[in-house]
Amino acid sequence: MKVDWLVVGAGFTGAVLAERIASQLDQKVLVVDRRDHIGGNAYDYYDEHGVLVHKYGPHIFHTNSRKVWNYLSQFTEWRPYYHRVLASVEGRLVPVPFNLNSLYALFPPRYAERLEEKLIYTYGFGVKIPILKMREAEDSDLRFLADYIYKNIFYGYTLKQWELKPEELDPSVTGRVPVYISRDDRYFQDTYQAMPKHGYTTMFANILRHKNIKVLLNTDYREVVEDVKYRRMIYTGPIDAFFDYMHGKLPYRSLRFDFMYEEIEQFQPVGQVNYPNEHSFTRLTEFKHLTGQKHVGTTMAVEYPQPHVVGENEPYYPIPREENRHLYELYLKEADKLAGSVLFAGRLADYKYYNMDQAVGRALKLFEEVVAA
Ligand code: FAD
Ligand code: UDP
Repeated sequence: MKVDWLVVGAGFTGAVLAERIASQLDQKVLVVDRRDHIGGNAYDYYDEHGVLVHKYGPHIFHTNSRKVWNYLSQFTEWRPYYHRVLASVEGRLVPVPFNLNSLYALFPPRYAERLEEKLIYTYGFGVKIPILKMREAEDSDLRFLADYIYKNIFYGYTLKQWELKPEELDPSVTGRVPVYISRDDRYFQDTYQAMPKHGYTTMFANILRHKNIKVLLNTDYREVVEDVKYRRMIYTGPIDAFFDYMHGKLPYRSLRFDFMYEEIEQFQPVGQVNYPNEHSFTRLTEFKHLTGQKHVGTTMAVEYPQPHVVGENEPYYPIPREENRHLYELYLKEADKLAGSVLFAGRLADYKYYNMDQAVGRALKLFEEVVAA
């Protein structure tokens, strides 16, 4: 087989690059994925009960990028959806990110009022403060509140998810869920928040439907790399695996998902409930909230974090911290040596904690600045 490009990985990064190359440059692309489906970690499917679920955990689309939104809108219609998350704290379910409503749900009204006033006076209404920053507050009430939130929302959850304390990770990790001085209970405040109306997999099928694109599933690229004639490769798998772990293994976190079906209309009040302080799982997601599907039953995913072990489970999360960045940079140097023949991009190849829209943005930028330049 002869193509212009061999793209490894049929997730957002690989699919978007394949589509751009096929439609804008009229060049031929072979997309190879070792899994038995397209979509990467965003893959969804109807389970044995007929409920639309996300195989690799809840995926909620949100972005501030008009460019990314317009790009994907060519391939899907959308269903508006605002994700809401509650966390179980001292027997109550309170909104996360922690906000003024969470404050009133947990503390007596007079005390909550005092804390609200101090929060607004110190930081301003509508402001978001990462928890690690808030813990530096000088005011003793605010420091008490920060320590309370740290202990009850972040500490246990982070220890389960990463086997690290919040301060042992790059501050951007817990900074994804900052304390929000507001009454807005939505998990995200992005301009565009919606789910692909017919699911992610359908959207991916539309992205990849082009006469210049062929998709080969159930195939590790190493099985075909000698047989396919191609000019250049785009690699979206783990960067350390590409180089046979020559500098050592880059750590990733993995998850085990347990799916649970109940013959009831609704299991929990919102799409996601977090359990920072109890159980060995971190969160429980009920898919019908996300997808809007009507069904007599409901399916939930329960997430049990675990270390990534090559060949045993999937590398879902890069672990953002200094020592891992140094190791990644050694691999980046190797990647740079191959720049003329192999391009590396995506959450695993860039070793960056990208959301879906960032993966799409990265792919579009790489196309414009390198592939098509
Ligand atoms: P991937 O989707 O990982 O695709 C890489 C592909 O490469 C995979 O399909 C893999 O099988 C394939 N591959 C790897 N090695 C090889 C090989 N040797 N040969 C052939 N194929 C190979 N983002 C959001 O915006 N919102 C969310 O709510 C959200 N929730 C998430 C929840 C979880 C549990 C996880 C893990 C991620 C979540 N994300 C979310 C992030 C989102 O999944 C990623 O941003 C996105 O999938 C990255 O796309 P990608 O193409 O870079 O990587
Ligand atoms: N986090 C937490 N408690 C929560 C929610 C998040 O401690 O209730 C921390 C935790 O370290 C988590 C990080 O914030 O890994 C990022 O959360 P996010 O919901 O963005 O994680 P993702 O959806 O990417 O798994």
